[in-house]
Amino acid sequence: MTSILSSPIEYLKGVGPQRADLLKKELQVFTFKDLLDCFPFRHVDKTQVRPIRELSPQSDYAQVSGTVISIEEQGEKRGKRLVAVVTDGTGMLELTWFQGIPWALKRIQRGGRYLVFGKVGFFMGRPQIVHPELEEFSEEKVNGKPFLEPVYPSTEKLKARGLNGRQIGKLVWQLFEALGPRDLPENLPAELVERFRFLSRYETYRQVHFPARPELQTKAVDRLKFEEFFFAQLRLNILKIQRHKESHGPLFAKVGDLFNTFYKDCLPFELTNAQKRVLREIRQDTGLGKQMNRLLQGDVGSGKTIVAVLALLLAVDNGFQGCLMAPTEILAQQHFEGISRLLEPLDVRVALLTGSTRSKERKEVLRNLQEGSVHIVIGTHALIEDPVQFRALGLAIVDEQHRFGVAQRASLWKKSVVPPHILVMTATPIPRTLAMTAYGDLDYSIMDELPPGRQPIVTVHRHESGRPKVMDFIKSEIAKGRQAYIIFPLIEESEKLAYEDLMKGYDNVKAYFPEPTYWISMVHGRQASDVKETNMQRFVQGDTQIMVSTTVIEVGVNVPNASVMVIESSEKFGLSQLHQLRGRVGRGSEQSYCILMTGSKLGQEARERIKVMTSTQNGFEIAEKDLELRGPGDIEGTRQSGELNFRLASIVQDKQWLELAKREAVRIAEADPELLSDDHRPIREFLLSQKGKTAWSKIS
Ligand code: ADP
Ligand code: MG
Repeated sequence: MTSILSSPIEYLKGVGPQRADLLKKELQVFTFKDLLDCFPFRHVDKTQVRPIRELSPQSDYAQVSGTVISIEEQGEKRGKRLVAVVTDGTGMLELTWFQGIPWALKRIQRGGRYLVFGKVGFFMGRPQIVHPELEEFSEEKVNGKPFLEPVYPSTEKLKARGLNGRQIGKLVWQLFEALGPRDLPENLPAELVERFRFLSRYETYRQVHFPARPELQTKAVDRLKFEEFFFAQLRLNILKIQRHKESHGPLFAKVGDLFNTFYKDCLPFELTNAQKRVLREIRQDTGLGKQMNRLLQGDVGSGKTIVAVLALLLAVDNGFQGCLMAPTEILAQQHFEGISRLLEPLDVRVALLTGSTRSKERKEVLRNLQEGSVHIVIGTHALIEDPVQFRALGLAIVDEQHRFGVAQRASLWKKSVVPPHILVMTATPIPRTLAMTAYGDLDYSIMDELPPGRQPIVTVHRHESGRPKVMDFIKSEIAKGRQAYIIFPLIEESEKLAYEDLMKGYDNVKAYFPEPTYWISMVHGRQASDVKETNMQRFVQGDTQIMVSTTVIEVGVNVPNASVMVIESSEKFGLSQLHQLRGRVGRGSEQSYCILMTGSKLGQEARERIKVMTSTQNGFEIAEKDLELRGPGDIEGTRQSGELNFRLASIVQDKQWLELAKREAVRIAEADPELLSDDHRPIREFLLSQKGKTAWSKIS
């Protein structure tokens, strides 16, 4: 069925070919439906005429009627303005023009009665409207319009062709003249519309554009927000269900000797309940012969590594190989050493493969992987490069990253006849709403519990003037045998500047901590990887007491003896980065400290971030705050994510709608994933009519 809504925009009364061209170019409006989806960015209330006496500094836009009692040109040359005073018997209102004075003079007369509209300001205690809209008063206009007048986004080019924000409204009005309720059939189940008391779809659009009252506009917008979330969630959840049903993955049928021996004899500590729960989830997933696609969200220090190790053993127990990928070489190296040590008592072969693995060794590792004599390989993302082939890759774990794109996953699939299970472990928690929308098609596990015995990290904010005391404090910690990090920001736009800052900082630190009493490691992105490695190793082994570094050490690094984290210019860091950095200390049993150094002048947002950091240590809370402060577009890894491009809804402000929409979508997707029931017919028909516009593939 072709709908009038698919008609080309030039066929709308008042448009024609020229304006149509502009509408297409400037606003991407090609069809009637596109215009219907152009939402006004505000409405002006001309439904009432207000007495002048009631205007107040809070009035915003208002409409009044009155008689002009004086008109006067004031000022000279550039300061010239036209001031007219109107009264309605309750008070006086000043109208002012700085531009278009001759034009205004032609339209306004002393003694004339007018309907005036504009934004009310107050000047010397008197109400004033600058550049008001003005029309001659007539009785029928006094009752005002039956709806709030919409104003649409426009562009310079459109305005030049007589299509400003209000004139576009006239076109939308024309559109509604041509539309009836049948052109916008219901797309939600009747039961749901009733339960949420939504307006009908036709009424929704009508009230969004031409609301009779502000409450009706809110109600209409609510429904559209719900729809946006609902259809996105429905799509993600149906995809997830389909994946569960159809995908084939390596079968980890048993918990074998390696896993059991390690669990009984080699675990250095008792697992937390959260760790146990996540392992159970992984075992369930991988024991079904379906492919696992799981996102593991855990706070910094919650102990994701050991979960990864146990999952890898599960793979090996079942005759498969496993790989663990880290974002940096340093981290890969550290994982390799730590995990090799842990697995030493077992008959498991672990190899390391990174960009700097020498070619002879590399060849050997590659051969062993292909033959299957290496069971677990640890490396950087170089692991997914082409030449790496496995005999039987069963599980791929991606550490400290939350976005592991479809393309990357696909290249992993190619490494094995049956696509391996994939476990992505985040660096820091992701806000719930973001996880639901951006990763809603994945399964996810949450580890919201830290191992027992961790002491909270004392976090303080210090200005430059406090530096000597901070340095003395570091000395006292070093005297107790502890170690300290001093981190400098990495400014992407000016790597050179950041580098100079770091060098200056390093010299400064050296002046406080002279050799041979103190030894300092420095690590930054410009070093060759073996230099980086050596410096890092010296710090890990305790040969140096201080690590001066850029954020290359941000994620994952584990030096439990370090007890002080100084973050220089901390106002330049985002919240999740600060949280990650702070997570480098407090990993042992000692009291640890995080010192946030800043300049003396701080912007509002920076102050807010520092406040969050000094008041909480819960990564899930910090993630929520981060989202609130920055908005979803900026959160790491989601920048290109189309899933977040909602037109009206916001995952920050409209959380409640998202929760509700998800609940309904999950319920429907689970009960009727093909949307075959009568109740779900409206959804199905709507989606079919949308086909081609969305990535809705499996419904046919
Ligand atoms: P993250 O989740 O940040 O990757 P790690 O896996 O590096 O955390 O673990 C942080 C530290 O906590 C490590 O030193 C690790 O040995 C320790 N750890 C992990 N799990 C436990 C546990 N259940 N009990 C005690 N310590 C633990
Ligand atoms: Mg980690």
